[in-house]
Amino acid sequence: MKKKLFLKHGREESIRRFHPWIFSGAVKSIDSGVNEGDIVAVYSSEGEFLCSGHYEPGSIAVRILTFADENIDEQFFKNRISEAYRLRQKNSSLITHHSSLNNVYRLVHGEGDLLSGLVVDIYDDMAVMQAHSIGMGRSWKTIAKALMEVCENIKYVYNKSSSTLPKGKYTADDGWLSDKKELPATVYEYGNRFEINPEEGQKTGFYIDQRENRLLLQKYSQDASVLNLFSYTGAFSVYALRGGAAKVDSVDSSAKAIALANRNVELNFGAANHNGIVADVADYLKNTDEKYELIILDPPAFAKHQHAVKNALQAYKRLNAKAMERLAAGGILFTFSCSQAINKQQFLQAVFSAATIAGRQASILHCLNQPADHPVNIYHPEGDYLKGLVIYVK
Ligand code: SAH
Repeated sequence: MKKKLFLKHGREESIRRFHPWIFSGAVKSIDSGVNEGDIVAVYSSEGEFLCSGHYEPGSIAVRILTFADENIDEQFFKNRISEAYRLRQKNSSLITHHSSLNNVYRLVHGEGDLLSGLVVDIYDDMAVMQAHSIGMGRSWKTIAKALMEVCENIKYVYNKSSSTLPKGKYTADDGWLSDKKELPATVYEYGNRFEINPEEGQKTGFYIDQRENRLLLQKYSQDASVLNLFSYTGAFSVYALRGGAAKVDSVDSSAKAIALANRNVELNFGAANHNGIVADVADYLKNTDEKYELIILDPPAFAKHQHAVKNALQAYKRLNAKAMERLAAGGILFTFSCSQAINKQQFLQAVFSAATIAGRQASILHCLNQPADHPVNIYHPEGDYLKGLVIYVK
């Protein structure tokens, strides 16, 4: 029997609209002995069953997994993962799947795939899973089994949750839930080759969410001098070179990231007109007087929480202004924010203010976002985290 949680009177409305979270303020009572990560069945104050999910003691009290009266067991995970897999397989023109051009995609995107707290990225025959809740963290064995049973070409599963779960609460180390795959692996994205090592890399090893935006960048790259700021794996640099860039400078403060970017450029082109530069982006922009025709600005999330939004917007504004100052007349800026707490309008306002500070005329060419293998649950707009603008700067 599942433990029970009862809501305050009238607080079931958001659940009837399928919002995937229950906030702690809506909770009236909960059975004794419920621990973080346990499955609870949620009832209205009148005793009507509403949903089940993972319990958490924080401001999100329940991450809802199902609105049906069913068990959250091996079969449940198999059903959900099958649905996510089928969606991506069926819509291969929208969502890349295993093919000779692409073998990297996101299979599970949390709430967007009705699996709040879980991310699964696919790299060829390897799945890398990342839990964002203790409940998902504890279910790793069941999830790994479901992944290998449902997806015929997945042979390896790596759990990389130690960096995404609260320290001290989750004791399982990162590691293989299958045989160990030989690393680094080489994967393909639009025919470009990239080295992947989930044991070492950030996130699950690669920023899959920029795939379509990189392809767009490629089309703007012919003969351009390109500056890729916060370059990490150098993926944008590889696409720029593929598109015929005259030269590409990649800047990242991590020496390991720059070494990886250099290896990825070499993997694709052998020798190329590419410079990997280990530097803080703000310092680099201050110290160079070089002008570029195409600049990519893809920083880490500045606002991880709502209270950080104000400072983050200032930081986006300053950084975008500095980048625009380094653009040649008629140059193009690809600028991004992956902060969940910042919405499209706020980001647009920050970039608008940056153009004012830089004293440049500017026009928006494209508004960008995350690709379709990162679906946004329509009842959970917070899942729409990646925002990008392509700006023509006169
Ligand atoms: N554009 C990348 C993803 C960027 S992730 C892609 O498409 O894959 C953010 C990167 O910014 C990380 O590699 C991190 O090392 C780097 N970084 C963070 N703060 C930095 C700073 N102040 N200066 C330079 N690089 C920084």
